[in-house]
Amino acid sequence: MASPVQFRSERKAARLHDPRHAFALRTVESEVRWDPLTGDSGRICHFAFNSAPPADLQTLVETSKQTCPFCGDKVNTVTPTFAGDEIPEGRLRHGDAVLFPNLFPYDDVSAVAVISRNHFVPMDDVPEQAIVDGLGVARDFFERSAPDPGPRWSIVNWNYMPPSGGSQVHPHMQVVHTANPGNAILRLQAAERDWRARHRRPYAAMLIEAEHAAGDRWIGETDGVVFLAPYVPAGLLGDVTAIFADTATLADLDDTRIEAFARGLRRLLRGFSAKGLWSFNLVLFPAPVGADASTHWLMARIVPRLYINPALHVTDVAYMPLLLEERFAMTWPEDTAAHLRPFLRGEAAGGSPGPRPAAA
Ligand SMILES: [Zn+2]
Repeated sequence: MASPVQFRSERKAARLHDPRHAFALRTVESEVRWDPLTGDSGRICHFAFNSAPPADLQTLVETSKQTCPFCGDKVNTVTPTFAGDEIPEGRLRHGDAVLFPNLFPYDDVSAVAVISRNHFVPMDDVPEQAIVDGLGVARDFFERSAPDPGPRWSIVNWNYMPPSGGSQVHPHMQVVHTANPGNAILRLQAAERDWRARHRRPYAAMLIEAEHAAGDRWIGETDGVVFLAPYVPAGLLGDVTAIFADTATLADLDDTRIEAFARGLRRLLRGFSAKGLWSFNLVLFPAPVGADASTHWLMARIVPRLYINPALHVTDVAYMPLLLEERFAMTWPEDTAAHLRPFLRGEAAGGSPGPRPAAA
């Protein structure tokens, strides 16, 4: 029986007389794709730009270190501490990670987790332990800070380096308990409830089967964590979705699977770094607190971020995603998966390193 997970696309063909080729008539193809679950569309186009020169990370790292509130003992002296009696020690620790209230909260329970003692970790060498400690301290925090009654989501986000919106170079995650998880999670989970009602199985389970059968967007699987290049990409130069099979929330993840995810993420970041990328956003999309895995499976979305032209400060987000809510990519997901596959297997670990300072 054909899978109800349908990968629908439409090719577009623009005709023009190209001034770069003596005004010869040329056809330029692009593609519109529709997400099999939500029906949201996105575009994939060829768009020529000079590949970004390596950013001057050395200067960025050194200057930001002078005033970093997370470096050395400052993380214990200049960051806020929790009010109330849930975390009487003031700040939560797990390995090298330290979690404390966000000085600029955007919800009732809004925390920051500093995940490494190092001011800078290069994207081609993010320590597995930093990811493990970050997710570990977030999981401890969600256990300790019991949310109010009513639907709540426990969300972990990571903005790595300035192109992603990260305002501190020092690696840190945002950890939030909220009744307002954002439109993307609400829309996704409404669509997943409809899917579950129609097909009696979680969408993520059927997506994994369909993507495994298709094969060309499949990156790999390790210890119950599946890595895919999404059919409708979210980032200009590709992205990755990690799906935690049969798992609703971070609270349901044991150490083994957190470690498996950390290992995979470290390798994929190295893969993106080999393309010259040096920044990303990561969000863990959980089911509501207390839900089982019958409808939503925990997933992470990892989107590299970049300046299209660093000299002109051209960002990678323009009117289309921001105002038209239309994804826009310059890399086909099938190419992203082919590039990342050997990195996830650990075979391309010796590939060309991405931009990084000589010493950090
Ligand atoms: Zn620092």
